[in-house]
Amino acid sequence: MRSVRRLPHILYNWTVVGLGFWLLAHTFPLLDLDHGRELLLLVALAVLAEWLAVMLPQGQLSGGFAIIFATFLVYGPVAAVWVSGLASLIGQGVVNRGNPLRTTLFNAAQSVLALLGANLLYQLAGGLPDRSLALTNIPLLAVFVLAYFSLNQTMVYIYALPARQGNPLFQWVDALRWDGLTYLVTVPCGLLMALLFAKIGIYGMVLLFLPVLVTQFMLRVYVHLEMANRELRVLYEVARRLGGSLKLDEILELVLRETSRMINFHTGIIYLRAEDDEGLYRVRAATGPHAGLLKGSTLRRGDGFLGLTVESGETQLVHDTKIDVRTADDVGLTQVHRSMLVVPLVAETEVLGLLVLGDKRHGFFEDKHLQTISIIGGQTAVAVANVQLYRKLEQTAITDGLTGLYNYRYFYHRIMEEMERVSRYGYGLALVMLDIDYFKKINDRYGHMTGDAVLAQVAQLIAAEVRGCDLVARYGGEEFAVMMPETGPGEAMHVAERIRLAVREALFETDGVRFQVRISAGVAAYPVHAGDLKEILSAADAALYRAKEQGRDRSILSDRVGADS
Ligand code: GH3
Ligand code: MG
Ligand code: MG
Repeated sequence: MRSVRRLPHILYNWTVVGLGFWLLAHTFPLLDLDHGRELLLLVALAVLAEWLAVMLPQGQLSGGFAIIFATFLVYGPVAAVWVSGLASLIGQGVVNRGNPLRTTLFNAAQSVLALLGANLLYQLAGGLPDRSLALTNIPLLAVFVLAYFSLNQTMVYIYALPARQGNPLFQWVDALRWDGLTYLVTVPCGLLMALLFAKIGIYGMVLLFLPVLVTQFMLRVYVHLEMANRELRVLYEVARRLGGSLKLDEILELVLRETSRMINFHTGIIYLRAEDDEGLYRVRAATGPHAGLLKGSTLRRGDGFLGLTVESGETQLVHDTKIDVRTADDVGLTQVHRSMLVVPLVAETEVLGLLVLGDKRHGFFEDKHLQTISIIGGQTAVAVANVQLYRKLEQTAITDGLTGLYNYRYFYHRIMEEMERVSRYGYGLALVMLDIDYFKKINDRYGHMTGDAVLAQVAQLIAAEVRGCDLVARYGGEEFAVMMPETGPGEAMHVAERIRLAVREALFETDGVRFQVRISAGVAAYPVHAGDLKEILSAADAALYRAKEQGRDRSILSDRVGADS
């Protein structure tokens, strides 16, 4: 499927290359080799311009077109074709920025085609054959420049189509804008070079172009500094905002967003270790065109490239997944990305997760990225550990250590909230208070440790008898409370009895001795027995007291009358 879809692209690519090089060879006899030395000098200048090109996230700036244009004006289209073709080949061959050979060949060939095409239009429009700078010929030279620009942009746009993701138009418009800006400088510069050539020859051209190169160089340094500055700002921003948030999703999203502001990668993913399974890592955040698909996918520690990265806890930079031994036989993400940068999120010695960045281009991530992303990874790990610790503390603060049930404080807080809700909306609410019978004796007979074990086991029995929406708490020493929203007295009595019988039937054991435990319950309900929180607590308590008085091992329903009924 894939290769079929790419077939037109391959055909296009090699047609342009074939045609371009055929024309190059075809025009060679027309090349005036008397000017060979001058032309080589111009090639060298154009290569320098390419070499010193200012790299921007959306494209690049180079003064190269000034040379091409000047060559066209002074020496004619054939010389310009050769200077441009050679400069492309040498320039991109020497300054290889991770482009494959076919891209270098394509760029050289398309510049040949664009130039000859523009020249054809220039002639058809009635441009003077000597490319004179006379006023009447200037508009026709403008036709030449515009035609060259348009042909060049169109051919490159079509070439890059299959590789474009997300919003291709936006990227293209960006490139167009930067290229257009370059022409504002290079076209006048080319004109001036041609004028100077008429006065003082080829060295005039070189002299004029040197300041362009110097400017380009300074701009390059400036852009470099600006990018470094931007990176620092992002790092600072991430550090500042990570510390301020306790929301996990917010943190992870922030990390991916800020990182993508710094590096224009294709896919960004954050895996976090599952809470219920130490060896499982789940995608918790993702950006890029496949983000929706990625969410929810998992990886296992030790499995595949990413799983092994979790195990080693070491950052991995893969320049080309197709040929790297770590990824060549892997499946999954490594198959859809040519370059990858994977940073384990390590807090203390634990790998809490993975930050995975991927791009379709090979060699996309560099060592400097590794450094900044590692810093971000470290900050993310600390923030994630923070959130997890906070959650654990929060959980500890509301649970009882011995039984694992909610503690009194949390129960009180929740029943207060619930009473407010039911009194506003008019639902019912039932409360069951439970107290183990003769618990002191259990302690005395079997020891305090066994008493603890009994408490834990009874807690489990109670929890197993209630619904998910009910809340069970350890109310005091060997007392428990069950809050049941939207429940009437009859239903609550039923649950109390179920609990009592479950405890009654259970067998407890210590040092090979088996024994049984009994429990008593007091039940009260809003609004039947009580009108507010204080009343329902005291009504259930009083019912429990009566259960104890009447001989224990029973459930008693409150006999009070609520204010509302
Ligand atoms: P009753 O049937 O009247 O409830 O008799 P009881 O013995 O259960 O009486 P009471 O409620 O007064 O005694 C509770 C005992 O529970 C007192 C205390 O020593 C014991 N206890 C309270 N908390 C714990 C605990 O965390 N672990 C253990 N092992 N015992 C506890
Ligand atoms: Mg008791
Ligand atoms: Mg008690």
